[in-house]
Amino acid sequence: MTAAQRTVIRPQLLLDVVTGDLLPGRAVLVEGERIAGVVAAEAVPTQGRLVVDLPTHTLLPGLVDCHTHLVGEPDSGQGYAGLLTRTGAQEALSGVRNARDTVLAGFTTVRDVGTFRAFVDVALRDAINAGWVVGPRMQVAGAYVTSSGGGGDVTGLAPDVDAVVPYELRVGVVDSVDDVRRAVRRVLHAGADLVKLIATGAVMTSGGVPGAPELSEAQVRAAVEEAGLYGADVAAHAHGAEGIKRAVRGGVRSVEHGSLMDDEAIALMADAGTFLVADIYCGDYIAEIGRVRGWDADVLRKNDETMLAQREGFARCVEAGVRIAFGTDSGIYPHGLNARQLAYHVRWGQAPLEAVRSATLHAADLLRWDDRVGRVQPGYLADLIAVQGNPVDDVRRLEDVGFVMKGGAILRSDGPPG
Ligand SMILES: [Zn+2]
Repeated sequence: MTAAQRTVIRPQLLLDVVTGDLLPGRAVLVEGERIAGVVAAEAVPTQGRLVVDLPTHTLLPGLVDCHTHLVGEPDSGQGYAGLLTRTGAQEALSGVRNARDTVLAGFTTVRDVGTFRAFVDVALRDAINAGWVVGPRMQVAGAYVTSSGGGGDVTGLAPDVDAVVPYELRVGVVDSVDDVRRAVRRVLHAGADLVKLIATGAVMTSGGVPGAPELSEAQVRAAVEEAGLYGADVAAHAHGAEGIKRAVRGGVRSVEHGSLMDDEAIALMADAGTFLVADIYCGDYIAEIGRVRGWDADVLRKNDETMLAQREGFARCVEAGVRIAFGTDSGIYPHGLNARQLAYHVRWGQAPLEAVRSATLHAADLLRWDDRVGRVQPGYLADLIAVQGNPVDDVRRLEDVGFVMKGGAILRSDGPPG
């Protein structure tokens, strides 16, 4: 790892995600943690600078995943009882591994949308920012704000065990509108950047019904109002159409999953400018690996019932002009495979360049970090990746990243190709 003060990067091509142009003969100047300039490669001053030549690579902005779960072990597909077999320290250290795997795969920013062990994500974000841990820039949710017994609660336990689940696994469990306000304040006071609502049942939760709303519109609105007092946004997990509509009417910034859309929900989202963050890859992982590993039959059934509908809904949202940001639910599948979802965006209706924009420009918009990440432009953070060949011809090239820089520091450089 090199924390160079001044670096020159000379790729074969530079992808300008704003215009869609693939530019030959450019060099990117990096000073400190930011991009200082994009200039003609032959005129670039190299004295006193570290020079990185990437003669067969395309350089583009570091990717952004708007729906990760970096804390803890990947989901076992057996419900949430396993959470009681691990300490907070174990969850934190798993998070260190997951953060490294994520950034080395080219995802230099994530919006991490929840951990059962409350606030381990806050600690991980702060450790990365302090330079103790290698990982992506993180926005974190702190805990799930969920109804009792809902998609973000620890369900499936024997009743006598249920009564002694530690508080830190249930920080965001709510029943009333006032509970929602209290939970929102609790997570934001503890250092969360955003609020994650569980607005419907969940696929992975024992007993959850994905189509069933679990929060009222008044509860969603209360969360949005309370978060707004702190300048924070709300993301809503919502599979069923009614839950999606309540979330959009309540004013959330993004709908997560969006599996069982109907025309009214799509129209509401398009009108309100609500982002869709749909994890349209991970259903294949669940169906394939979950079966091999003997995941809970109920989880597999719910996955089968939502997977195709989610993808068709995604395609309809693309057509209707709903804003789409890239988010994968990593932690359901192993961290570092995030880019596999880009090909699914293309298969389900997005032009390849739009798929890349969903993980750069549009993701940065969702995070309100469009002034610092998601483009290769002077003044922006030097979060840069490179892949062999042209990723707009084939987005699957982004599954194999050969160079990663975050904030001016080279985290990965696989060397000149042989
Ligand atoms: Zn999730």
